[in-house]
Amino acid sequence: MSASAPITQDVLTIPRKMPEGPVNLVGLTREGMRDALIAAGTPEKQAKMRVGQIWQWIYHWGARDFDAMTNLSKAYRAELAERFVIAVPEMVKREVSADGTRKYLVRIAGGHEVEVVYIPETDRGTLCISSQVGCTLTCSFCHTGTQKLVRNLTAGEIIGQVMMARDDLGEWPEPGEGMGERPRLISNIVLMGMGEPLYNFENVRDAMKIAMDGEGISLSRRRITLSTSGVVPEIARTAEEIGCMLAVSFHATTDEVRDRLVPINKRWNIETLLEALRAYPKASNSERITFEYVMLKGVNDSDEDARRLVKLIRGIPAKINLIPFNEWPGAPYERSDWERIERFADIVYKAGYASPIRTPRGEDIMAACGQLKSATERARKSRAAIAAEAGLDP
Ligand code: SAH
Ligand code: SF4
Repeated sequence: MSASAPITQDVLTIPRKMPEGPVNLVGLTREGMRDALIAAGTPEKQAKMRVGQIWQWIYHWGARDFDAMTNLSKAYRAELAERFVIAVPEMVKREVSADGTRKYLVRIAGGHEVEVVYIPETDRGTLCISSQVGCTLTCSFCHTGTQKLVRNLTAGEIIGQVMMARDDLGEWPEPGEGMGERPRLISNIVLMGMGEPLYNFENVRDAMKIAMDGEGISLSRRRITLSTSGVVPEIARTAEEIGCMLAVSFHATTDEVRDRLVPINKRWNIETLLEALRAYPKASNSERITFEYVMLKGVNDSDEDARRLVKLIRGIPAKINLIPFNEWPGAPYERSDWERIERFADIVYKAGYASPIRTPRGEDIMAACGQLKSATERARKSRAAIAAEAGLDP
């Protein structure tokens, strides 16, 4: 197509299905950005080079303004500014825990809110991001699970959480600063916030491809961990199309208990899940699968459970991450006692598996795993409850 060719509706709908209003470049894959630039009149022959330049501005330097893109002509910058925006979710609240953990509340289109958590440690800094507003699944120990799914996040909203956190931490390089000069504050990303990432596969994949792209945020696939409750049909695709590290919310050693804790088990049970997991490391070239195991007093924390667990996962390169249950108001479970957790960890460790106990972080600001739930949704629910009490339709 030449620069003067008319822009058809068809072409315009490729990048983001928003024919009217400016298109957000954040979240487009390289191919998507190329299509968008061509649709906006960039000559096809130049498109790849332009993507390379703009990509670096957005994802390496953190530019939010086309005017900053000094290797593009003024006229071209003005054209871009007319057709596109570089937008990330807006931070509406930030809480900093006594232990340095930061919890952000970010607002996305439609006025919805999701939470993002930054956990600094001595050897790394982990950003825990969300993939959905709420969750369709209803794991009985998870606070997010009590909140209905509102919607999937777009790829731009997913990678935008990383960009927003980099803004807050001051992690983007200054002009002239070389690669690797600035310490990496966000060295790892975990998809362990709100939502089931494998129920929003394409957007999560596109966002993680952006995070891994060497011309930008440039995180190795080994530093990105996707946590799933066990959406079996999407596990092989995760290996093939994303190739990141996988964590699985295992949490129980019998179908009877897992059905109660992680109800998706009724659809894909332990055996089916393990079968898919056996194939994962080979397909993705990743080392080990993390088995997440939440420690619930008297429910899944016996010696017998520990022994059953190691038997079940035999043959899978694995690490068992024991998560002391993070309590939330009204939760139907209690955290296992510390000695119990240690004893469980010991059995797993002696069977040959690393069995770290996850230190609860940011508890004073309710930033721990499974406690994330947006304030808007809390407010909505309480309004609904008030209406119900009054005998009114909410
Ligand atoms: N939906 C995905 C990822 C988000 S949850 C999943 O389920 O894997 C990230 C991890 O926190 C999961 O292992 C989840 O089971 C665990 N989790 C949820 N609620 C928790 C709680 N209250 N205490 C401890 N861990 C919890
Ligand atoms: Fe959803 Fe994960 Fe919570 Fe289950 S544990 S309800 S899948 S966010």
